[in-house]
Amino acid sequence: MNTPIFKKLNNDFDADPNAPDPKISLLGNHVVLSFSLNSFLWDNVSEGETGTLTFLNCLQYRLGKPDSDSYHRYRYYQSDVEYFDFYLVENSTWIKDFPIDKKIHNSSILNEFRSKLKHFVFFFRDNTFECVATGYSFGRVFIDASGKKEQVSNFIVSSTSKDNYCRCSNCGKTIAEVTEDSMIPTFEECYKSGAVPVPNFGWLCSQICANEYEEKYHIKFVRTKEGKVDYYFGEI
Ligand SMILES: [Zn+2]
Repeated sequence: MNTPIFKKLNNDFDADPNAPDPKISLLGNHVVLSFSLNSFLWDNVSEGETGTLTFLNCLQYRLGKPDSDSYHRYRYYQSDVEYFDFYLVENSTWIKDFPIDKKIHNSSILNEFRSKLKHFVFFFRDNTFECVATGYSFGRVFIDASGKKEQVSNFIVSSTSKDNYCRCSNCGKTIAEVTEDSMIPTFEECYKSGAVPVPNFGWLCSQICANEYEEKYHIKFVRTKEGKVDYYFGEI
């Protein structure tokens, strides 16, 4: 039997160690996990900033045991795998031992994407999130001081690649280069030139790609009265 191998994926962020507050929402075929980011460890994270992981084509997910105190009872427990991190589990035997408290999100994904499905695990202080999906995209959302408006931080990244480019979630076209605390062109410039930022999700390069993505994954984006996909209503 192959031993599961844990590959740490959160190399440039961490969940809040005390109050990560993980929440799950559904977006078409995808499942979005949001949680408070750790602002103690990372200078580029403001207090109250939320991280989101959108799990693409998610077959099933759960949020349950273990917590940080009962981690040693986790079915794949390995003493050298640290708690509080987000992992890809290679050699996972999820198909036979995924916990029974799972929620099936879309069972047809098993047939459609069988060979591409991967097992992801995020260990939070009071519980563990696990899911089976084809991939993920990481984004950041900042709620402004008034609490009224949700803003994508200025470097929301939709690509899973590690090459520091923000790409269209539909066609893969490069939208911007991502630097440590901004992007080039800037968030505002990208938006003004017609690229479409979607909170909790990532970027699309154009209205055409937004339309295509919507059709492909059976999701509904927010649209203006004029019918454009735009979560910011021209206000940036
Ligand atoms: Zn595109």
